[in-house]
Amino acid sequence: MRKTPYQVVIVGGGISGLATAYALTEEGAKTQTPVQCTVIEREPRWGGKILTHVTNNYLIEGGPDSFLTSKPWALDLCRTLGLQDQLIATNPQHNQTFSFCRGALRELPQGLLAFRPRRVDTLVSSGLLSWGGMLRMAAERFWPKQNPWPADESLGEFFRRRFGAEAFEYLIEPLVAGIYAGDADELSIESTFPRFRELEREHGSVIKGMRKALASPPSPPRPSGEAASMFMSLRGGLSELIRSLMEALRTRGVRLMAGVECHEIQSPTLESGVFHVMLEDGNRLSADAVVLATPAYQTARLLRAYRPEIASLLDGIPYASTATISMGYPAESIASQIRGFGFVVPRKEQRPLLAATWTSLKWPDRSRAGETLIRCYIGGRGRETVVEQDDNSLMECVREELLSMVGITAAPTYTEVHRWRQGMPQYVLGHRDRLAKVQKQLAHSPGLYVTGAGLYGIGIPDCIREGTKVGKQLLQDYADNPAKKIPEA
Ligand SMILES: Cc1cc2nc3c(=O)[nH]c(=O)nc-3n(C[C@H](O)[C@H](O)[C@H](O)COP(=O)(O)OP(=O)(O)OC[C@H]3O[C@@H](n4cnc5c(N)ncnc54)[C@H](O)[C@@H]3O)c2cc1C
Repeated sequence: MRKTPYQVVIVGGGISGLATAYALTEEGAKTQTPVQCTVIEREPRWGGKILTHVTNNYLIEGGPDSFLTSKPWALDLCRTLGLQDQLIATNPQHNQTFSFCRGALRELPQGLLAFRPRRVDTLVSSGLLSWGGMLRMAAERFWPKQNPWPADESLGEFFRRRFGAEAFEYLIEPLVAGIYAGDADELSIESTFPRFRELEREHGSVIKGMRKALASPPSPPRPSGEAASMFMSLRGGLSELIRSLMEALRTRGVRLMAGVECHEIQSPTLESGVFHVMLEDGNRLSADAVVLATPAYQTARLLRAYRPEIASLLDGIPYASTATISMGYPAESIASQIRGFGFVVPRKEQRPLLAATWTSLKWPDRSRAGETLIRCYIGGRGRETVVEQDDNSLMECVREELLSMVGITAAPTYTEVHRWRQGMPQYVLGHRDRLAKVQKQLAHSPGLYVTGAGLYGIGIPDCIREGTKVGKQLLQDYADNPAKKIPEA
């Protein structure tokens, strides 16, 4: 057994980097490998895109507001950290979402993304689709499978081909491309929603495949007190997850260095295989292994001198900029205008607003009694200039949108803007091949790892899954190859 601890430096203190450190230290303890882990974060604040701000009247999420429960990694981590009593589900009594289309808010059928609308009458009465559009959508069950099978397709191509242009543009696009704040004609189906493609391949139809999957035995019951909900959050906001992770990491002896920016990674020395992690302040850290849990374009910058091939591959991953604008109102001033969880805006409508969430209706405890919090989401791929406006212009733009779409005339009594420049990675066509090439290149740099939302999944659960995988893999690689010999090509 190694006497001196294995030195690992993780760059990036978002959920990906912290999940990596958590898995690494857990695995180290399990396998009795002495590991000294250091995490460095450029900002004075930990959590990256996860940012909760609590004011006197409101709990505001500047970035993500929830995580998907069908991907279990975030929920599992919350339970492991003892946060199960803090989990909150969306309010079932307001469970309606709308789409702004052809000048009005129209209700989206529940269960739409499972292609099993629970209320088909909602789809009919909403006026979202023409009769022709609905018939074309229903015909998906009988629509022939693609032949020959394409290597990849854009989201737009895939969903138009299966469900018709109208269903795609008004129903599906704002939900699927909206998650990425992306352009559906650029995003790859294989890298964003591979399951839909699998369903076509296996069952000849997405609808048939979904129905078969949903007919299979239900998943095991949840621990008592946890309501079933497609999305969940934490009572004190998602930053509670970061706070708990940090506490656990401190207890495990992880060195946590905030306000420290990494400048570049220098090649490991031939004799010792030790990396030099160069810091902006001129200092350096030595490491046996380095994990870069930064946005892909930052990872590229850090690797430019040491591994230019990997840097240029990562440079090719585009990012979109967005902003969230949270607005607080006296409840009675907007109560009659808001209903459900909020609404999405199809790209076809060509509006600056991507979506609006009625936060106080969607989640418990997000505003004090007598106050209502809402959150607007703007920007996205190809519509980034709006994000660059100053706060006043941004607010004016959003208020005009809310007036014309929902009829809200009241002025907010509280506002808060969070800009996310280059915040949303875009998994465009070719993303999967790009990642395969990155992995191939990484095989020539034992001890170097990359993770983060720019690679294998943008959602919080995906970031936790990938960080966990890297943390475990790192120790496995060390056990298999302590001398870090480069495998032959
Ligand atoms: C507005 C918005 C809404 C979202 N909504 C949801 C949602 O509801 N549900 C969901 O699951 N996901 C959502 N997401 C996506 C999700 O929040 C992110 O993909 C995820 O949090 C990214 O985590 P990460 O650790 O990979 O990256 P980041 O959070 O970006 O963390 C990377 C960290 O690296 C640091 N860093 C960068 N360069 C350096 C350097 N040179 N040296 C040191 N540190 C450095 C950064 O400061 C940052 O803290 C949303 C994202 C945004 C922007």
